[in-house]
Formats: sequence, C-alpha cells, structure tokens
Amino acid sequence: MTQAEIAIHGAGPVGCALALLLHGQGNAVVLIQKQIAAPSSLRPIALSHASRLILERAGAWQSLAPTAIETIHVSQQGSFGRTRLSAEDAGVPALGYVVDYRPFLDSLQHEVAERGIRMAAKANEAALTVHAEGSSEETKEKDYGQEAVVALVTMRPAASGTAWERFTPEGPLALLPMGGRLCVVWGMRPERARVLCDAPQADFLAALSQAIGRRAGELVSVGERHRAPLALRVRNSRVGERAAFIGNAAQTLHPVAGQGLNLGLRDAWDLAQVLRDATDPGEARVLQRFARLRRIDAATTVQVTDFLADAFLGNHRITGLMRGFALTALDICLPARRFFARRMIFGASALP
Ligand SMILES: Cc1cc2nc3c(=O)[nH]c(=O)nc-3n(C[C@H](O)[C@H](O)[C@H](O)COP(=O)(O)OP(=O)(O)OC[C@H]3O[C@@H](n4cnc5c(N)ncnc54)[C@H](O)[C@@H]3O)c2cc1C
Repeated sequence: MTQAEIAIHGAGPVGCALALLLHGQGNAVVLIQKQIAAPSSLRPIALSHASRLILERAGAWQSLAPTAIETIHVSQQGSFGRTRLSAEDAGVPALGYVVDYRPFLDSLQHEVAERGIRMAAKANEAALTVHAEGSSEETKEKDYGQEAVVALVTMRPAASGTAWERFTPEGPLALLPMGGRLCVVWGMRPERARVLCDAPQADFLAALSQAIGRRAGELVSVGERHRAPLALRVRNSRVGERAAFIGNAAQTLHPVAGQGLNLGLRDAWDLAQVLRDATDPGEARVLQRFARLRRIDAATTVQVTDFLADAFLGNHRITGLMRGFALTALDICLPARRFFARRMIFGASALP
C-alpha cells in the first residue's frame, strides 16, 4: 500500500468533493467507483451558500451554472401565517443555488479526472477508508410513509429568484427555480404520489395549483414526473476501525428544506480539515476528532429536518393556528429570521 493513502468509496457528489479537497491539500487519495447506475431522472439540489464556499475551495464551483435563490417564501395551505426569508436578511449574496443532480455530478467527476486523481474499481488496503457510497439499507431508522413527487413545471412569467416552501396537509411542497422553470418536490402518501405521477397533465397542474395558489405565477405545463421514497437513516457512529462515514452514508434525510447534500459537503469539509496535518489519517485519535467536530452540526440538522417533515402534516385547526403564529412571529422578527436563515445555510458548523 502507498503509505497513508486514503481510499474514498463512492464517486457521488460528497465523495468527489472530498477527493478534490484532499488532493488540493496534498493528501494521497484514490477514489473507488463502482458501475452503479446513478439517478438519471431530475433531482433538483438547492446548494446553500456554505456549500458554494466549500465547492469554491475545492475548485469545483466555477464550472457550474446554478440558478440563484434570493428569496424563500414559506407558508401553509389552509391557514394564515407566512415568512419571507431574503439573502439580505441572512447577509449572504444568495440563500442558495439550484442545480440538477446529474449534470452537477458529471461536472464534479470531470473535475476529478482533470486533476489526475487516481480512480480504481477495487480498493487495496488503505490507511483510511472513507465511506461515501450513499444511503445504506442497514441504517434505516424511520420511514415517513411518504414519497416525493419530482417534476419540472413551466411558468408564466418564467420563474426567477424565488423559492416556495408550502406546508400542505398532504406533506411539504418545495418549488425551486431552475433555468426559468420551477422544480417541484412534493412529499405525500405513496398512493397519492402514484396517482399524481400518472394523472393527465391538466389534473396534475390543477392539484398543484390548489396547493400553491397563484402566488408563484401561472402553471403552464409539466414535464416528466417521477417518485422518490423518503426515509431518515442515521448511523450510530460515523467512525470505525480506520474508517469514516460521510454524506448519505452517515445520514440520509427527508429532502424538506434541502439539507442532505449540504450537510454531506460539510462532513467532507471537516474531514479534510482534520486530515490536513495528520501523519496517519486512520489513527483512532484523528477519527475521534472528526466525529466530535461533526456531532452537533449533524444532530441538529437531522432534528430540524425531521421536525419539519412531521410538524406541518395534517389540517387540524388548532395546530394550524399555532403554526400560523410561529410563521408570523418569524416574519416580523428580523433577528429570528436571520438566525433561522443562517442556521439553514451554515448548519452548526464553523464555516466560513
Ligand atoms: C428528491 C430529492 C431532492 C433532494 N434535494 C436536495 C436539496 O435540495 N439539497 C440537498 O442538500 N440535498 C438534497 N437531496 C439529498 C441529496 O441528493 C443527497 O444528500 C446527496 O445526493 C448525497 O450525496 P452522497 O455523495 O453522499 O451520496 P449519493 O449521491 O447517493 O452518491 C453515492 C455514490 O456512491 C456510489 N456507490 C454506491 N455503492 C458503492 C460501492 N459499494 N462502491 C463504490 N461506489 C458506490 C453510487 O453509485 C453513487 O455514485 C435531495 C434528495 C432527493 C431524493
């Protein structure tokens, strides 16, 4: 084995980002890629400003062509209360940047190849094995009994700059601007998701219009629709014997509030920082430091996401009123809005 070589299993976005960060700081690294078909269907990813900083430092931001989110409008169907979060409130140039998973991953993998990072199909013995293979069935913890319907909707006028998060009695609905259109990610019971995916275009648009109203503009047409299962999976420990787990391999979240990949990139960033000066990257002391560094950020992000996935379900009048007051209070209190927005952007990490 090459002394102190780090083997990263999984050339997904988190594995590629870690490979670029480690290679850039002089660590010996090999990326293990298996020929597993990556999702070719649409999957909008809202990258936070913190993720932008990490990708810039990895040298992988410049080649992306994301759609910036300047404002996020949060509301609930069937009751009062709404909050408008702006980039200005949070003190950042944009609250987030929307990319499609597949071209985003292609761009990262291209960058890895350009830098001459070693790729292999099989791992030899390594000083440290980093698991970035994505979600594992072994760690299943909570099934939300929901699937996400994902679809790209053409709007009139064309979508730009504003994302919509709408809590409907069926489940959370996110509308993200992407290249002039709105990308829908709508959590709901699997039977209902199946019906909406197979429904004629007019029926789908009518259901969506009923859920969001006319605030986002006129819904003109919808492209291919597909479904994604939703579950929470968290590993008990993110380190083992000469091993570390990052990204979805460490924790898989409900996509409400778009936190999964952002959290995974912060895992990659912190691991790279810990390994920067380590003479033996697989040493237990080094790995424990990494685990300690990630504990609070990961735990709070998991809790907030899990709370949001559940808290806005159902249409009980009293809980609707309480949610309405919470959204209104957030809307009128700038420090609270600022705290909330920055927490969603940076997590509990020490970035930037
Ligand atoms: C509908 C939907 C919307 C989402 N929206 C957002 C969002 O807006 N913002 C956000 O931050 N997150 C979002 N997410 C979550 C995000 O997609 C994941 O958190 C992210 O893809 C995790 O990246 P990863 O690299 O850890 O894992 P993956 O993306 O799963 O990549 C893992 C890679 O490892 C490879 N692999 C698997 N097994 C092996 C093996 N044995 N050996 C080698 N390689 C292997 C796989 O082929 C894959 O390429 C969303 C998810 C869904 C489903």
